[in-house]
Amino acid sequence: NEVGLDPPLSRSAAAFLREQRVVPGGSMRHASWFAPHPPYAARGQGCWILDIDGRRILDCANNFFSLVHGHAFPPIVAALTEAIGRGTAFGLPTEGEIALAEALAARNPALEQTRFCNSGTEALLAAVKGARGITGRHRIAKFEGCYHGSYDHMEVSLDSTPANWDDAEGNPASVPYAKGTPPAVLADTVVLPYADADRCAAILRRHGPGLAAIVLDPHASKAGMVAMPAEVIAAVREACARDGILLIVDEVVNFRLGFAGVSPLFGLAPDFVTLGKIIGGGLPVGAVSGAAGRMAVFDHAAGKPRVALGGTFSANPLTMAAGLASLAHYDAAAVARLNALGDMLRARADAGFAAAGAPARLDGMGSLFRLHLGTRPVTDYRSARPTVAEAAALPRIHAAMLAAGVLLTPNCSGALSTPMTEEEVALIADRLVEACMATEGWR
Ligand code: PMP
Repeated sequence: NEVGLDPPLSRSAAAFLREQRVVPGGSMRHASWFAPHPPYAARGQGCWILDIDGRRILDCANNFFSLVHGHAFPPIVAALTEAIGRGTAFGLPTEGEIALAEALAARNPALEQTRFCNSGTEALLAAVKGARGITGRHRIAKFEGCYHGSYDHMEVSLDSTPANWDDAEGNPASVPYAKGTPPAVLADTVVLPYADADRCAAILRRHGPGLAAIVLDPHASKAGMVAMPAEVIAAVREACARDGILLIVDEVVNFRLGFAGVSPLFGLAPDFVTLGKIIGGGLPVGAVSGAAGRMAVFDHAAGKPRVALGGTFSANPLTMAAGLASLAHYDAAAVARLNALGDMLRARADAGFAAAGAPARLDGMGSLFRLHLGTRPVTDYRSARPTVAEAAALPRIHAAMLAAGVLLTPNCSGALSTPMTEEEVALIADRLVEACMATEGWR
């Protein structure tokens, strides 16, 4: 560059300027934006993305953990190519939706019946409505800080802070997330602590008889990507049995952790399971599944169902074809291989942090991981919240990773994909340790 001349704008920077004029914030998705702006994707192949400036990026975000086979996975491309010529949507059922529902039921008999929709958000909405339809109650309980999509009740307490997270009795408060949240949404949503079984049991003893459902994710990203304690799960199970509350397990992200999903790994017997992400093979998807007796709440064979589910694009043939190919190639062996790669990633990164004397570690389970700075134990949303110094460092670590050619989610979590090998996993771990060590102010 000659002195005095501004460097030319990258194509991504120019695209961002253009997008800001027609899209608020210059981004379609709040959670995937980061400063100054993300690179714009041009194409993806396997575990790599090529951005519009021609940079190769190792993709560990995988569209928020939804691309378990990475990009342009040949069997998914073939299935989609075959399906698209036959038409993209019908106001009629297709055999593809039967095949995908059967594939889920074959993995776990608890997923006996399924209704597909277009996002995880919709899946939670459907499951909550189903539970209300069965119980005739309208209140629900969820765990503090846990993300289950952008349906009003599911957003409660998403970003509570020390200034507002306790109510007058020291229990987690029903804190609004979106400005303008109706007070009724807060009143109808009971918030539970993720890692305090006694408090959880006490709250459920008080509110249990009025609850339609308890919604939980036993390995929730916003609770730090750590396992929900068995004692809390026991308290939930006891309350459900005692008070006739239905259990909704949100497996939108964590279904990938086991061939039969995540519930069996935690001894959970849900009434409804919500699914999304990997079951759509990279296309928009959501689903609610459960035993036939529960799913009968959506049954319209005898006239108007107790709860009607619509959706112009629900169970569209492209998603069904891609989802079927995705699941077919994510068999028990593929699940075990990817989980083992995740164990290797965490072990290598943690060894690197230890060798460098850095107070950081990689948490998570199976093919999902999340960076934690500091040495305090992370057990729930509160302890997972970064300190001020850590909150300043994380975006810089994320940026350093991107500069080194590795894309994480903005909070420095990630997911592995089946095209990855030990080579990519070693690269991710080593770059992560380097990025942390090169970032000042948090140690
Ligand atoms: N539940 C969980 C646990 C999620 O992580 C997400 C999305 N990240 C959702 C539900 C919502 O899914 P979607 O973005 O497809 O609406």
